[in-house]
Amino acid sequence: MTEPVIELAEVMRSFQVGTETVRGLDRVSLAVARGEYLAITGPSGSGKSTLLHTIGLLDRPDQGRYRLHGQDVTRLDDDARAHLRRQAIGFVFQFFHLVPRLTAAENVELPLVLAGVPPRLRRERVARLLARLGLADRAGHRPDELSGGQRQRVAIARAAVTEPEILLADEPTGNLDRAAGREVIAILEELNAAGLTLLVVTHDPELASRARRQLRLEDGRIIADSAPCAP
Ligand code: ADP
Ligand code: MG
Repeated sequence: MTEPVIELAEVMRSFQVGTETVRGLDRVSLAVARGEYLAITGPSGSGKSTLLHTIGLLDRPDQGRYRLHGQDVTRLDDDARAHLRRQAIGFVFQFFHLVPRLTAAENVELPLVLAGVPPRLRRERVARLLARLGLADRAGHRPDELSGGQRQRVAIARAAVTEPEILLADEPTGNLDRAAGREVIAILEELNAAGLTLLVVTHDPELASRARRQLRLEDGRIIADSAPCAP
């Protein structure tokens, strides 16, 4: 296979809680090829979010190595990580994390502002993406004027507008009813079909079974991988 886009080797991550050391990730090794669609399941506290945050450069390993596109990013400083994150990674959260006072279009535009994209180009890209996600008529609405499903679609648009190579979604349907959840998954799958590497954390077995590859975590370890990618 081609060089993996994500490669974790023996990654450890612990948290100090009072006098206790809590294990978040325990010697996790994982390779993900470009364009893969992975579902990550496991009980609460098994390390799913820690894994996603590590891959998304929101957290860093205590030990082990993380290579992104073949580049060792384990010990990059915060600025370099933030830069790489903005450029390569989109993140979707369970509770949307939209900016309440901005409209849908302004929320989606934000990463492009940070990336220094000129205003006209920004607005074109935002309008195109909102239309593609069925949100054209919601562009001027603020989050509290949108349904949960619409909010999550705005959040996906915000994550995808910079055209990242990797999209990470942490229980993206966890706060939605079934119909809205299905819509959100359909959009994520469409982005994956267009070439994006997609990792989705979910509690929903039906949703997990749709992914081409399933990973299961327990106590910070990968205990099952349906299609391990050969090194
Ligand atoms: P999951 O997403 O599977 O529910 P997490 O990755 O959030 O699990 O957490 C894995 C373990 O690490 C849990 O025991 C959790 O309490 C602990 N943990 C995660 N983040 C922190 C943190 N910032 N501080 C202390 N403990 C944490
Ligand atoms: Mg979690």
